[in-house]
Amino acid sequence: MQLVIDESRRRLLKRITLGLAVIPVAGLPLRSAIAADTPLVTADDPTAKALKYTSDASKAPDAKPGSTCANCRLYQGGAGSTEGGCLLFPGKAVKAAGWCSSWTAKT
Ligand code: SF4
Repeated sequence: MQLVIDESRRRLLKRITLGLAVIPVAGLPLRSAIAADTPLVTADDPTAKALKYTSDASKAPDAKPGSTCANCRLYQGGAGSTEGGCLLFPGKAVKAAGWCSSWTAKT
């Protein structure tokens, strides 16, 4: 009887360990799915107009060379992302290659 309980406890501990190991990996696609569902800022957005936001920094005459949303302090997208949130556009996403007049270098 003791042998059956030990075996069953061993299996339970193995499952718990496997489950804990999978949680961080399982969270990544979920985070990506949330980001993918966020609508992009559009050119007719009043805040975008006021801040001269463009989805392509190379077309922004006022942009400092090399400055893009991806290297802005307010950008919320992950490293290597093509788009992500911005603190100035709640509930919307900006292009990593974008730019606006509030660009602030990451430190
Ligand atoms: S504040 Fe930064 S991340 Fe947001 S739109 Fe402007 S440049 Fe892009």
